[in-house]
Amino acid sequence: MEIVEIKAQLTMAQVLSHYNLSPNKKNMLCCPFHPDKTPSMQIYPTTNTAFCFSSNCKLQGKSIDTIDFILYKEQCSKHEALLKAKVLLGQNIIQTVTTQTTTDYTTLFQDFKTALTRRGRCNRVYWVS
Ligand SMILES: [Zn+2]
Repeated sequence: MEIVEIKAQLTMAQVLSHYNLSPNKKNMLCCPFHPDKTPSMQIYPTTNTAFCFSSNCKLQGKSIDTIDFILYKEQCSKHEALLKAKVLLGQNIIQTVTTQTTTDYTTLFQDFKTALTRRGRCNRVYWVS
């Protein structure tokens, strides 16, 4: 999976919820990268980026994306942040697949039951006639 694909699929909301962070109604968040009493980090859901307005922040007026967010939060390398992002995406994929599979089996079982019932009726009709 390419970096571009990861960035396109992973939303800032997913990253924030992973770290149990929830922005307020104005999409402002207490910045996790410096001691912050009043929310000074703005989240931009349309671009999946974040920006901290505090001058005490280690982001130093830099806008960050989802990968940067993980990188700063985990204090890891870019490579590790990308792996972490893939795991976050993978968890979502697994959840989706599991839900779909359950639905498919239910439908499949109903089809099977219907088919059996129909065959039973046909057989009965055959034997009677
Ligand atoms: Zn900050």
